[in-house]
Amino acid sequence: MQANETDFGPHVKDIAEALENKLDEATIVEELRQYVENYGIDLATAKEAIVRKHYGDPRTLQASAFLPLANIKADESSVSFRAKIVSVFSKEINLKDGSQKTIFEGEIADGSATLRFTVWRDEFTAKPGTILEVTNAYSKGWKDRVDLNLGDRCRVREVEDEALAALDVPAAGSPTAGSASDVAGLRNGMGSVTLTVRILDVQEREVTVRGEPKALWSGTLADASGSCRFTAWHDHKLQADTIYEIGNAYVREWQGIPELQINENTAVGTVDAELPSLEELAVGTNYTIDLLDERGGASDALLEGHVLAVREGSGLIFRCPECNRVLRSRQCMVHGEQEGQPDLRTKLLFDDGTGSLQLFLNRELTEKVLGRDLDSCLELVRENYSAEALTEELEQALLLKPLTVEGYTRSDDYGLMFFARKCQPAHNLDVPSVARQFLAALEA
Ligand SMILES: [Zn+2]
Repeated sequence: MQANETDFGPHVKDIAEALENKLDEATIVEELRQYVENYGIDLATAKEAIVRKHYGDPRTLQASAFLPLANIKADESSVSFRAKIVSVFSKEINLKDGSQKTIFEGEIADGSATLRFTVWRDEFTAKPGTILEVTNAYSKGWKDRVDLNLGDRCRVREVEDEALAALDVPAAGSPTAGSASDVAGLRNGMGSVTLTVRILDVQEREVTVRGEPKALWSGTLADASGSCRFTAWHDHKLQADTIYEIGNAYVREWQGIPELQINENTAVGTVDAELPSLEELAVGTNYTIDLLDERGGASDALLEGHVLAVREGSGLIFRCPECNRVLRSRQCMVHGEQEGQPDLRTKLLFDDGTGSLQLFLNRELTEKVLGRDLDSCLELVRENYSAEALTEELEQALLLKPLTVEGYTRSDDYGLMFFARKCQPAHNLDVPSVARQFLAALEA
């Protein structure tokens, strides 16, 4: 949108009043144009500068340039507001060129609304409770939400404001729309997460951040509701088989699976709490497919259901020696014609009555299902001059059979995929009831 006289309308009046009408409106418009259009200065700063230049007091400017957070709409290129920081944490993101950048995320409130914000600059030192005056931020819509972005053009300053200081913003970690009370409730994008968990395993790793080696700690944590992977960007001396209360953590997805992120702003302390033992938690969490679908994935899930189809691409496959992709007619979609490496896998349509997903069994599990190893499969295919015999064996072993699978699951454009680490026949599954549910779902 191009700035013109009518856009400046209320601001011209605002300046005129701050200068006790000692400057005519045409001059104000002319100066505003200079500052905003020629020099690219944001409106709020320009207004203050003009008032100061003419010996007025910028504090007498009406806060008309500042919008209540509730009035900020999605995709506005310049918004200004005053609000109090509810939570803030730094996080590392990967840029397209492969480098990493630190950004800051959190929630900010002014009594009219609480919005998420992201600071795209290297420095941001404001802490929860700080009142900020922000000019020239921009907003983005995300689902039903409006998110604020503080970029390079934005001006941020800490201010005193009695009304905002008295505002009772929820303490970090209290249940808000973007928070979870247990591990199963974690969703990508959540901030200010407080949980009591048992660390199941933790490993130190070294990564390169902006050319510098940096240590981080990753592993699995769990509570009675479920388990998830975590990454700690700060040495909180986490120990396996210890119960911690973790405050002000946030959630970021990795390959579609929510992962808890712990940084230097995260409060980490050991607590006496009742949680299942390491052995009980380590077996994974029972899920239904509809819950996995809603959650977007899980790193350690147990699932019971039925095989409804053995998909094409099961049995003997050939992989590109360069990138491991499955070859089609000896062609890799990236590397062209290749002498493929033989491998085994099984791709199944798996249904548990609440939904269905693509279930993948790796070579080891496929060998177990077939009772043959890869060499024996290659021999069978050579004898029959076709891979069909192998597919038939897979169908015979699996089709409409109840299975319990354990593994990780994630979703992408093709839907939910489950990669099994373990696969067992399910003996205690109520077959007719699941079949009925499946038929009902088909009829619906
Ligand atoms: Zn390839």
